[in-house]
Amino acid sequence: MDRFSKDGKLIIPLMQRKKGTKETDDKKVRYVVTEAYCPDGCNIIDKEHKVHGAGGLRMKFKRADMEGEFVLSAIEGDFEKVILSGELKDGVKDELYCPHCGAMFAKLVDCSCKPDADMVVIGLTPKLDFNNAVSFCNVTGCPNGMSIKSGEVIQHIRLRGSI
Ligand SMILES: [Zn+2]
Ligand SMILES: [Zn+2]
Repeated sequence: MDRFSKDGKLIIPLMQRKKGTKETDDKKVRYVVTEAYCPDGCNIIDKEHKVHGAGGLRMKFKRADMEGEFVLSAIEGDFEKVILSGELKDGVKDELYCPHCGAMFAKLVDCSCKPDADMVVIGLTPKLDFNNAVSFCNVTGCPNGMSIKSGEVIQHIRLRGSI
C-alpha cells in the first residue's frame, strides 16, 4: 500500500482495533496531518511531542482559572491530546491559541455538545483556507471533529462509511 497520498500526507493503516469496532474497520486508513498553521502562519506541528507516533499539533489553552499547552494528535479522527502543562477538565471549554505568537484559532461553527462550545479550525496551509483544514470541538472530551479537504470528500465518505 502507498504510504503517502497524492498531496504528501502520510497514510497509516489502523492497526489497533478498539473494542467494539467492526472487523471492516481494519481495512480503513487514516490521514496524518503533517502541516498545520496558526491564523498568522506559524507552523504548529511539534515533532518533539508525538501522539501515536506522529508529531502533533501544539496549542495553548486558556480558561478562567487555568492555562497550559497540549499537543493534539495529527491522526485524522483521533483527537487524543498530550498535556504539556496545565490541566484540561472533562466537559469544560478552553480558548485555543498559537503557542508561538498567541493568535487565537478561528472558529467555524458552534458544536452542539454544550451551549458555548465551538468548532475550532486549524488550517493546513500557512494562509487559512477553510477548505483545507481540520476542525475540532474546544470542549475537553467532546469527540466531534473533522477534516475538511476539497476533493477528498468522496474518499472520506468511503472511509467513514456513514456520512
Ligand atoms: Zn502563531
Ligand atoms: Zn463539542
